Amino acid sequence: MSHPESHLRRQRVIDALGEQKLDGFIVSALPNIRYLSGFTGSNALLLISFRGAVLFTDPRYATQAAEQADCEVRVPKNQLAQAAAGSIRRRRLKRIGFESARVPHADYERMKITLPAGARLVPVSGLVEKLRVVKDSSEIGLIRDSVRTCSKAYERVLKRIRPGMKELEIAAELDYQMRRLGADSSAFDTIVASGPRTALPHAEPSEKTINNNELLLIDMGARQRGYMSDMTRVTCLGKPSRRTRKLYQAVLEAQLAALDEVKENATADKIDRRARTVLAAHGLAGYFVHSTGHGLGLEIHESPRIGTGNHTRLQAGMVITIEPGVYMEGSGGVRIEDTVVVNTNGCEILTPTSKDLLVI
Ligand code: ZN
Ligand code: ZN
Repeated sequence: MSHPESHLRRQRVIDALGEQKLDGFIVSALPNIRYLSGFTGSNALLLISFRGAVLFTDPRYATQAAEQADCEVRVPKNQLAQAAAGSIRRRRLKRIGFESARVPHADYERMKITLPAGARLVPVSGLVEKLRVVKDSSEIGLIRDSVRTCSKAYERVLKRIRPGMKELEIAAELDYQMRRLGADSSAFDTIVASGPRTALPHAEPSEKTINNNELLLIDMGARQRGYMSDMTRVTCLGKPSRRTRKLYQAVLEAQLAALDEVKENATADKIDRRARTVLAAHGLAGYFVHSTGHGLGLEIHESPRIGTGNHTRLQAGMVITIEPGVYMEGSGGVRIEDTVVVNTNGCEILTPTSKDLLVI
């Protein structure tokens, strides 16, 4: 399970430390630790400096850390922050970056009081996240597997959906099938909403039963070997009304138009605007209340946000979602979401699931 990439990734962190005149960097966010060392446990700190990297974890993970991490591993008897401070002292590091957006204040205080005299904690934000934005080919392979698991689980469960089932039951089936197909877990709490509840952009599945002539919205993703997928599909129980079909077609048109804009050097804002322009032409602009998409990888929401005012230019190797939606209180909502990889002259849609309005 050793990650040959981890060493190179840490070298890129060390280069970034030099630019910020830092001697060391304490990594606390678990996805960042995983990215930089290969370690997947739930409690660790990673100290990176010009003098090598050390992973600190507790005795539950001694064996796992030794197997997974491709750097020095310490399993201290005291707290991880105290042990890290000891290494900082021995290495005579003075300016130590820490992940200010990721560390609880209590942990920051603990790190601060255990540091040797003369050493200082310097807030740093987004350093590793920036490196993670562009995925390498091994990561894209893992996301591809995760997407496949998500879609396969969806197809299996869709065959069994009948009026009278509860939203919660369907969500449980989806989660179960994803795990059967190799997922570590779901990427986030699976969303299953039916009828008027589809108008809630982030509905929690409820005890409500699904009925004939209702829309059913499912937003789901797998987390597989750490990597996320994200997909939304809407189906109809029984024959959809003319109005429902028109709404669905408008959202699909917006999604396809946004996908058409995705390529290297396109700005996030431009992609978002394209989806909004299409919905505006259908008189639906006011019902699209969130961004068009987001990056994903080791976390379900990563940079770049594909939304208004974000002038970030896409780079080949970014993995993002495209997911416009329309939500009308009282009647219902439609969202269509795919996971895609940005290429030099377009994008590859990873999600294989059909986007025709399916009637069940
Ligand atoms: Zn989603
Ligand atoms: Zn999403």
